[in-house]
Amino acid sequence: MKYKEIILNCTRVNHQYMRLPAGKVAGLEAMTELYKRIASQSLTCAQAWVQDSPCPDHEPAVDAFNWGIVAWSDAFGLSMGVDQVEWGRVFIAPHHEFADYLRPGRPPEPLPTVDGAPANIILTLDALWTELVIKLTARWGLLHHLKDKDAMIEAQSLQGKLRNPGSPAYKAFLESDLVFFHHLFKHFPFSEQTKKHINAWLKRAEEEL
Ligand SMILES: [Zn+2]
Repeated sequence: MKYKEIILNCTRVNHQYMRLPAGKVAGLEAMTELYKRIASQSLTCAQAWVQDSPCPDHEPAVDAFNWGIVAWSDAFGLSMGVDQVEWGRVFIAPHHEFADYLRPGRPPEPLPTVDGAPANIILTLDALWTELVIKLTARWGLLHHLKDKDAMIEAQSLQGKLRNPGSPAYKAFLESDLVFFHHLFKHFPFSEQTKKHINAWLKRAEEEL
């Protein structure tokens, strides 16, 4: 499997869709700006990775974001109930390799598995992932993250909203996540059985919109 090309495609998808319903939820302006920078730097670094070049300079938030995805993907696969061996090999491993290229080291603890309906799982893991990205950015960014203080405050308050099914942010994020996931997962060479499982699972989440 061509890990690097797959991740390059993922960073392109992320750059286009951003996994953030920009403009739809008030009070996320600083966070949106930060995400744009992260997405664009992730893309630049993935392009260098594909060419076996050294990693270009990037901000600590880029490391936090991508190591956060490694921790997230572990919990996401378990929560969806897909075949863990396949999920680990096809989905987690490429993300892990990319994170290790950005910032070599050990992965953070995986996020906890979440039970319940797919929509709840998606948004609870979004909240936990956001929390982890803030923590890692603060740890690795030191003074650097101070310039993103406003974004961090927004991200902090967003976590609460993502845990509240009645909030406008909940619905907006669910909607944009589902679009994002459809574009993201199609780049991975999952077995037919796993593809079916994922699509059926995402469909159940869609029904909650
Ligand atoms: Zn880099």
